[in-house]
Amino acid sequence: MGKLLSVILLMVIVPQVSCYAQSDNYRAQGKYYAAKEQYESANYLAALQNVYEAKQLLGGGTNYHLQYLHILSAYAGKKYIEAQQELAVYFDLVDGKLKPIFFQRSVEALTNDEVTVLTKLIDQIDKAAYREDNKCAKCNGTGELKKACDFESPDANKYRMSCFGNGKYGTVCNVCYGTPYKKSNGCYQCNSTGTVYRTCPKCSGSGRLISKCDACDGKGVKP
Ligand SMILES: [Zn+2]
Ligand SMILES: [Zn+2]
Ligand SMILES: [Zn+2]
Repeated sequence: MGKLLSVILLMVIVPQVSCYAQSDNYRAQGKYYAAKEQYESANYLAALQNVYEAKQLLGGGTNYHLQYLHILSAYAGKKYIEAQQELAVYFDLVDGKLKPIFFQRSVEALTNDEVTVLTKLIDQIDKAAYREDNKCAKCNGTGELKKACDFESPDANKYRMSCFGNGKYGTVCNVCYGTPYKKSNGCYQCNSTGTVYRTCPKCSGSGRLISKCDACDGKGVKP
């Protein structure tokens, strides 16, 4: 009786197990198409998320199409080290070191154009990954340092005449000469404040001064 029950259970369970696996493969392919759509709409991080989920559904496996999309999405999403790592996985597939898990519904092989795109990217990915890996900490890889503008107008002692990150500096109003209370109806030009604001000449109104990072000599990479 126990044996018969096991046989029945096996008959019931086994087909279901393989059926689930198969549906996971279909779902993985769905995620792949979703990733492709996201990539084409320039939603690279969403594309990556779908790629991760597709791989999970393939039991952690991958195939040429998924790798292609993973590499392009990571690169376009500025995740260069990830792009480099996934490029290595792609070559493991090509070299037979890793067995691809194909989608069950047929997907055409990568086109020559797609392979060309990938080949052209190799060098750029390596360079960008190196930059990401060796990013200068002081300027966060930008090669530039930003600080609040320190411009001070010659009349700074009289009013708030300094930019100090505001992008504007005050000058003494040239209608009331900074003494609007002496005019009967106040001053129209400075709204009776005595001060007129002008765009800061030192930072051109941005309020920030940008200089070359001295830690990396503007290269953005650790010296
Ligand atoms: Zn005035
Ligand atoms: Zn300024
Ligand atoms: Zn730097």
